[in-house]
Amino acid sequence: MGARREEILETTGVAILIGGGPKVTYCSLYLMDELKTMGARMDCDKCGITVASGDERNHQNQIFCEDCYMIALSPIKTCDPWAVHSAKNFEKCTGETKHLTLVQAEILQILKAEGSMEPAMLLGKLGGNIQLEDLQREFSTLRHMEKVKGEKQGQNVLWRLW
Ligand SMILES: [Zn+2]
Repeated sequence: MGARREEILETTGVAILIGGGPKVTYCSLYLMDELKTMGARMDCDKCGITVASGDERNHQNQIFCEDCYMIALSPIKTCDPWAVHSAKNFEKCTGETKHLTLVQAEILQILKAEGSMEPAMLLGKLGGNIQLEDLQREFSTLRHMEKVKGEKQGQNVLWRLW
């Protein structure tokens, strides 16, 4: 083979360009890397929870958080040993009711009394004793128990009772 390195690279580049597939794959991988370095975050298309870039799952052209992805892939059956990671199923299987924290009980109470609302609004109603990040965590726990869920309305995500 008498071809110089540059010639080989050029030929390979052209081949990939014509092929389409590998180039596209390369591009999206590159993009993912870029997003990762930027510390980008995105919202789950199903429940609206914020997912750190790299933790998101793609399913049927939608971005899901890990929970929603698992649910989408395998509808949970009661007491399916593979599904016991879900708090609600664990509850069902063991017959134990998990104790709610004060904040979690308060969240449920507010959502029950006033209906669905945006996280920021809920945060305000909780009286400013809690950060949005903590609220997201509490919400996530409640979501695991299937007591609340997120609902996309246009650009906004509303939180509501399950
Ligand atoms: Zn989700």
